[in-house]
Amino acid sequence: MSDDNNNPRKFPHPGAGRSRAVIHPKGRQLDADAHGDILALLADRSRQRDFLIESLHLIQDKYRCLAPNHLVALAHEMKLSLAEIYETATFYAHFDILADDEPTPPEITIRVCDGITCEMAGAEALLDGLAGKMADNVRIKRAPCMGGCDCAPVAEIGHNQIPHASVETITNAAAAKSVDPIIPDYYDFDTYVAAGGYSLLRDCLSGKQSPDDIMDALDASGMRGLGGAGFPTGRKWRIVRDQPGPRMFAINADEGEPGTFKDRYFLETDPHRMLEGALIAAWAVGTETTYLYLRDEYAAINHILQKEIARLVAEDLVTGDALQLRRGAGAYICGEESAMLESIEGKRGLPRHKPPYPAEIGLFGLPTLINNVETLHWVRDIVEKGPDWFSGHGRNGRKGLRTFSVSGRVREPGVKIAHAGITLRELIDEYCGGMADGHTLKGYLPGGASGGILPASMVNIPLDFETLEEHGCLIGSAAVVVISEQDSSADAALNLMRFFEDESCGQCTPCRGGCEKAVQLMETANWDEALLQDLSTAMMDASICGLGQAAPNGLKSVFRYFPDDVPGPGQN
Ligand code: SF4
Repeated sequence: MSDDNNNPRKFPHPGAGRSRAVIHPKGRQLDADAHGDILALLADRSRQRDFLIESLHLIQDKYRCLAPNHLVALAHEMKLSLAEIYETATFYAHFDILADDEPTPPEITIRVCDGITCEMAGAEALLDGLAGKMADNVRIKRAPCMGGCDCAPVAEIGHNQIPHASVETITNAAAAKSVDPIIPDYYDFDTYVAAGGYSLLRDCLSGKQSPDDIMDALDASGMRGLGGAGFPTGRKWRIVRDQPGPRMFAINADEGEPGTFKDRYFLETDPHRMLEGALIAAWAVGTETTYLYLRDEYAAINHILQKEIARLVAEDLVTGDALQLRRGAGAYICGEESAMLESIEGKRGLPRHKPPYPAEIGLFGLPTLINNVETLHWVRDIVEKGPDWFSGHGRNGRKGLRTFSVSGRVREPGVKIAHAGITLRELIDEYCGGMADGHTLKGYLPGGASGGILPASMVNIPLDFETLEEHGCLIGSAAVVVISEQDSSADAALNLMRFFEDESCGQCTPCRGGCEKAVQLMETANWDEALLQDLSTAMMDASICGLGQAAPNGLKSVFRYFPDDVPGPGQN
């Protein structure tokens, strides 16, 4: 055998004749103990990419954080690069990612909501009151809206939400380590079936109803998507059905618009009505797999849905994993439909450019039907009671029912199922028991953080799709926050802009930089109207998605309707 180093026709090995260099493997190395932890947690669960966020939740729930050695082990198991794992994990607020040698977070995390309604109800004073009062095993964090606005101020200890939170109730819950969600009373499978539930689905499956029967009823009822966009439901179903298969279905239960809690109400009280609507939609449109994307703050609903979906499988109403529940992880932007699809695929929730629309290229690149919880909630009633029952509701020339989440300065906040086109005056007087004691109406947010602010002089505008745009506002998901003469619209607008600054996905400059700059300008004692209006125009015209486009609505409303509130030389 020849020695290559002695072969004159070959170059010698660069290291020939020198002592052998010590080779260090590059990057973080797999730790055997951490790998064992991850193997035990994942067990026989799927290692597919779309289970990445679910897997991160498993680690976070067990260890209260995501430690580097666990993330390396997860990357190894899921055959992903560590960069891909970090890219996703760092996007979501509910994941605590440790740096090297950083200690594990305290045993108990308390999140205090600083959303607009909670701020009006004293969240800042609550945070001040909690400072320095907690034991070493507790940490306090600010958090955006938790969907408990009718019980403001709200705090969350672990997965347990505390309504009307006070220093005392939070301290007591922390001492008792009451971190598990409290499961409310609700109509379970047996109760729902005893009241005629799933008869319609069985009629569909047996051929007594055809897909066109269902879609015709939806068309005739005037039903529109109730997640905020208002696209006609029947037409959307037909568009997706006409796409080549396989088709997918995603249900948006990630309501995160500050002031919105209606989907929570429907899922906490009558989950099967939505589930039956979902199964009918999947059958009518011919979708293969349904993904139910639930906001992470709704831990009690997660518990309910896991249990009730398992029952549907046991009852042969759903096969295998055709209906999958997925947890969000604390990112408001994932309520935007294309961002939700990215998140279901296990990635950062970055909104996609449109077109193509999800109906053509959606989840995993397949045609995808996307519906909101409330939209599906009404399907059974519309078909069984007839489309005229639904369209027979309505006021001021509008048709149908709308579910308003009402919070703020009213006597009886909560979910109000009312006529489409009802005015704020009627809503407050007929459904909310009037204004809260000692408060005089100053204005209202008709559509949560994104929908702008209207003054008290506009209490008689019909609240519905397309009725508010000419006033610079939107109905969105019908989250109505009522403000009084004791509140500053400028403070409210600043609260909203801070929220958008936190929640911007950062993908496009007008939104990412615009929200940040707007907050800086709005924190000054003299608002520069010309500059803020210019900035608003750039954000509205050039942002990719609705977050950046709608973020200035509250700010612009202050200039338009509440000039006395604008911080300036004339103000104290
Ligand atoms: Fe992301 Fe904001 Fe751009 Fe939407 S507008 S894509 S949230 S940066």
